[in-house]
Amino acid sequence: MLYGEKFRFPHKVDDRIFPANDPNITVVSFIGKTNLVNQLPSKLTCINDFFQHPIFQSNQQQDESCIEGYFCSKKKVLFLYCTNVYDTNKLLMLENLEETLSEKGFLHYFSNLRDTSTRHLLFLFLVSHICIVTNSGSNFDLNYIQLFKTLDSVRSKLQSSISEVLKTVPGLPKDWLTLGRLCSPRVLFYFEQRPPIVEENLKPLQHLMEDQIYRLLRKCRVITNVCTNSLFAIPGNQEFVFFKPKQQDRFSFLLELLNDTFEIGTENSSDFREFLNQHIILAQTEGFADNVGRHVGPSIFVLPPARVWFDAAFKLYDFFSNTPAEGSKGFQLLRSILDVEGQFSEARCMKVLPLALAAYQENLPSHYSSQYHESKKAQAKALLSSHGRGPAVQKFLNRLDVDCDRFWRNGRRMCESPSISGNPCIQPVHRVLSDENSDSKLSILPHVSGVRYVSACSCGRRQANREDPYDVKYANYDFYRLIEEECCGRLRHITFPIFNPSSEHFEAAQLKGVSKPMHFAKDDVEKLITAAEDLSLGPDENEFPALSVDHLSQVAAVDEHEESQTSLGKGEGAEAIEEENLMEITGTHDLPFITTRDFSTTEYLPCMIHVHSPPGILPRYSSWSLVCLGSSSLYSHNAGLSDQPGFLTGSGFLLPWDIPVRLQHNESKQEGRRAHLGYSGKGKRGKQGQHEFTVKIFIGVEYECPRGHRFMSSSPGRVLKATGAGLVKDSAQLITQNDVPLYLPCPCPYSRGGKALVAQLMRLHVVTPKAAVHVTVDPKVRPAPPPCPEFITGFPEAVQLSPSSYWILRFPYVYEDENQIYASPKEGSRAMQHGYLLKGTCGVVEIAN
Ligand SMILES: [Zn+2]
Ligand SMILES: [Zn+2]
Ligand SMILES: [Zn+2]
Repeated sequence: MLYGEKFRFPHKVDDRIFPANDPNITVVSFIGKTNLVNQLPSKLTCINDFFQHPIFQSNQQQDESCIEGYFCSKKKVLFLYCTNVYDTNKLLMLENLEETLSEKGFLHYFSNLRDTSTRHLLFLFLVSHICIVTNSGSNFDLNYIQLFKTLDSVRSKLQSSISEVLKTVPGLPKDWLTLGRLCSPRVLFYFEQRPPIVEENLKPLQHLMEDQIYRLLRKCRVITNVCTNSLFAIPGNQEFVFFKPKQQDRFSFLLELLNDTFEIGTENSSDFREFLNQHIILAQTEGFADNVGRHVGPSIFVLPPARVWFDAAFKLYDFFSNTPAEGSKGFQLLRSILDVEGQFSEARCMKVLPLALAAYQENLPSHYSSQYHESKKAQAKALLSSHGRGPAVQKFLNRLDVDCDRFWRNGRRMCESPSISGNPCIQPVHRVLSDENSDSKLSILPHVSGVRYVSACSCGRRQANREDPYDVKYANYDFYRLIEEECCGRLRHITFPIFNPSSEHFEAAQLKGVSKPMHFAKDDVEKLITAAEDLSLGPDENEFPALSVDHLSQVAAVDEHEESQTSLGKGEGAEAIEEENLMEITGTHDLPFITTRDFSTTEYLPCMIHVHSPPGILPRYSSWSLVCLGSSSLYSHNAGLSDQPGFLTGSGFLLPWDIPVRLQHNESKQEGRRAHLGYSGKGKRGKQGQHEFTVKIFIGVEYECPRGHRFMSSSPGRVLKATGAGLVKDSAQLITQNDVPLYLPCPCPYSRGGKALVAQLMRLHVVTPKAAVHVTVDPKVRPAPPPCPEFITGFPEAVQLSPSSYWILRFPYVYEDENQIYASPKEGSRAMQHGYLLKGTCGVVEIAN
């Protein structure tokens, strides 16, 4: 029966395994290379053989290097064995590491593996009395010589560190501390295969091998006369070579075990036990004295109490496993000896790194985009990869990456904030006025993408450069306000409903996620009408500057098609009538007086109004504009548009829209009406007091491209093109009765990479007739495919345009709901299906009297 305990580093053992009279133990380690033939590595079968008991039955450790042990307090021995990279079957696990290997490279991985394994070997040499070195064949593996030399030089470098660790162990025998190890351990050599000879008696061969090994080790100065100076010693007058008598498989092992249990008698299995036992007995009695020569003193030999040994061994194991190579000269030396390829690779890459960095820095502008940065970095990396060698290349590539990034971030970064249309800001990295809590060392600058577009003003008569917009207010409002000052500012504008603060303290309404379809009840609509009127009169909108008569006289001179009734002399009178009509649009409903309390005066809508916007909240500015250019006589259908720059040839015409109108009124009203209509000329008297006639309206749906090209559309998706003689055959029927694409590819020759520029529906031109009807406009725009909402003007019902005038509705440049901004699509080819101006924009209502 055996009383022992298995354990594995670094798992601490239970104190209960130490008997009351703690024995002084002898430690035996099994190290070295093993082959694949045996399913259980020889190191384990040796231990099993020694105890004649299957102590270790499998070896399934997944660790790259592991040390296991067996402590038998009865026999006062402790066995240790390690499996690591020197065991062939352990290398099989590399198969599972394909990913790691392809990522880091085999050399890098393998040198780390060898480093750990070798550290563990050295540890075993320091805590053992006897080391059994296994050889995977029947020949002495000459590679061991180099390994022993490495271990010895690392050991002497680590001497003082080891003493430091040992000092922390209470009750450590003084000699152990002095020597740094228990003794100069004896090394025995175990050969896994017998030599290829037929003789049964291996003894002579064993002795020959002993002589050979001894001479070899002496010659290489692995062993010396004074064994304290060497890594290990070799017994002078005891056997130290053992050939495994025969190959053993699992079956024969069990058979022998059975024989052993029933004491049937075994043949060879106890040979190894005998071989090892003589050394153990010597250790337990006299200790080893393997010095050679006359002038040498007694050897130090420590048999430590088990408890102390465990304490010291675990501390040393921790030191050997977890000390980084950089922190210790000994481990640095170990790495440099083992990892020659790695050393070369590091040195080589170290030399190339500055060259690669210089390649990156060559001809750099003062600041540049991430894209440029990446491409320069790729150049530098290509240089490093082509001139660097070995496993360190990957590490140095990462270092180069970090260095380049740091260099770029250090004052050379471009802001790159995208504009609404997605162009990056080209300023050096900066703050904008609105970020409050950003890095205050940066200067405050507005974003500038450097891209410029050409846009016409609200009325379309003046074109100007437009900076690539970074915010919706600039895009839809500020730009037009600026340019208006020199152009249409003095024309009559319809004011759209906007937020009117009641005090200095107001804020944006919280909208995210609350958007739901909202339907105005009829009452609400009526309230809105009046309230809009109340609210919308901002400081500069409540006075309509008189139309410039001079200007009108210039442009009206070309008129001949329309009923030219608006004589210049009547200019001021006409103004008065239009003023009146405007009042009619918004003010003639019989409604209770509604105050501004129906709209928030403390919260504004932080985006544009769409059909799902919550009621009672208005935006701070209007993204739309509705302006009256003047009299309808400004347009001549023969000559086309005048005073509107940027139109493509043959496209500057409005489309006629003839609408049959039937008035149903009592006679008296009709009389009054007729007098009013006066010159419509096309009326004909119907039966039963009905009055039927056709009114002619001119409509133009105008698109504008980023280069300032403008054109009208003849039908949804088509560009208007007059005949050579300047005749327009299309009517506005198709345009007014269908959804119209919001974006069209511009037919202009300018294109980027073969893609046409995307023109956007920007204006609706309406020339109203002098008739008993009002033309109304009520645009609904869905600028992107659903779920994008439909944007509206904010008027609760369609706006009525005054008769006999030329009106221009200018659409928003970009659309924004509470979640996102909808800008024009990038691709010209699919632009047409992207967004729509929904049908029903234009209508006709009877003038209410
Ligand atoms: Zn910027
Ligand atoms: Zn203008
Ligand atoms: Zn164009």
